[in-house]
Amino acid sequence: MKRNRSVKILATLGPASSEEHQIAELHKAGADVFRINMSHASHDLMRELVARIRRVEAQIGRPIGILADIQGPKLRVGKFKTDSVDLRIGQEFTLDDNEELGDETRVHLPHPEILEAVEVGHRLLIDDGRLFLECIETDGRRVKTRVLAGSKISNRKGVSLPDTTLKTGALTPKDRADLDAVLEADVDWVALSFIQRPEDMAEARKIAKGRALLMAKIEKPQAVQRLHEIIELSDAIMVARGDLGVEMPLEEVPGIQKRITRACRRAGKPVVVATQMLESMISAPVPTRAEVSDVSIAVFEGADAVMLSAESAAGSYPVEAVSTMDRIAVQVEKDPLYPGIIFAQRPEPEATGADAVSLAARQMAETLDVAVIVTYTATGTTGLRASRERPQVPLVALSPILRTARRLSIAWGLHCVVTEDAQDLDDMVDRACRIAVEQGYANAGQKLIVTAGVPLRQPGATNMLRIAYIGSDGLSAV
Ligand code: PGA
Ligand code: MN
Repeated sequence: MKRNRSVKILATLGPASSEEHQIAELHKAGADVFRINMSHASHDLMRELVARIRRVEAQIGRPIGILADIQGPKLRVGKFKTDSVDLRIGQEFTLDDNEELGDETRVHLPHPEILEAVEVGHRLLIDDGRLFLECIETDGRRVKTRVLAGSKISNRKGVSLPDTTLKTGALTPKDRADLDAVLEADVDWVALSFIQRPEDMAEARKIAKGRALLMAKIEKPQAVQRLHEIIELSDAIMVARGDLGVEMPLEEVPGIQKRITRACRRAGKPVVVATQMLESMISAPVPTRAEVSDVSIAVFEGADAVMLSAESAAGSYPVEAVSTMDRIAVQVEKDPLYPGIIFAQRPEPEATGADAVSLAARQMAETLDVAVIVTYTATGTTGLRASRERPQVPLVALSPILRTARRLSIAWGLHCVVTEDAQDLDDMVDRACRIAVEQGYANAGQKLIVTAGVPLRQPGATNMLRIAYIGSDGLSAV
């Protein structure tokens, strides 16, 4: 199953897409990685979804990535006597540690750590920013605010704190339990929500111990400020535009998306653009023009992946949403302006064998008429460096390790195939030719480029580049 695009598609699973046949249909329509949202999935459901994805994977014979998304400190107010109340602009309203039901003057905030951390002048945004409060007085247990905009507040609405850095880490007790469960369940990627500082990633890394790769969701202004340090400690980044657009002025999100995408391309870490990409397709079979344009911007910018949330998880048209994204991506990548835009943002190589070889492979592919670049990668490191070059010919990544192939399925351009280690150099080139033909990336008589590290399986030892011709038997002729 060959895709006709380099950007990858992440589809969130949910009530509209949890059955095995639905997962298979989403994959067929173009989903490369599935996301399980731990805000909604129980441990049992998560394990069941992983098992279903793995069965689909075995049936179609293509590695599939699984991303488990950990909820993080999603803060909510308590409940009201009347379920909801209307506030007036200018009035005072208090959030406190009193568990009694709320009214027009106050409500319980069941997070003592926030009550402690909020300072005078900090903003509290309730219900995705629909109600805007500012702290005017606090004693560490009661935060008195003034209503600056909006009116309605109701039971269990979310609270965003764009100005407050919480003293607790990014992992709540629920998150720790979820993290243990998903790491046991053999997922490939774990996304962490509301990361505020690099230390949050370091903490998760200690728990993960290499069992899964870690993606930081950038959805707090504090994380945007320390983006480069967070990228350094992450394996991938998500531009989590949903919460980011609540915590920051909406008009700043597009620029931030571009800056994050470019920083990740420079670092060679996969970057996912998420949320509301085809939002109207939750209830309509076609997207708005603005949504098509939004997806195209992420693709033109060279993001590794674009993501669907409710569109695939809970909408009426999950398969159509995936195939719409696929069609937009294919068309953008065929656009005559696309290669130039991608090339303009290319990062300089670092002084390593993997980067020198990846750069040379891209340049040779531009000089010669090459059908495909085939890269041997055991741990995935070389695969990511090859992807970082964003070559304009297809990239096939060969790995003897299934886990590597699954992990790389999120990365730009990499078509991953699991194959045993080559016996020797000749076998390596023959195998590359045979797989390129089998997978539909090359035909007899065409040229391809093979890159590898010899001896094999030594990470960071990429040192070989060969031009091979495919003979009429599908093996290397030279
Ligand atoms: P969520 O994260 O869907 O888990 O909130 C993505 C976002 O905030 O954009
Ligand atoms: Mn979020």
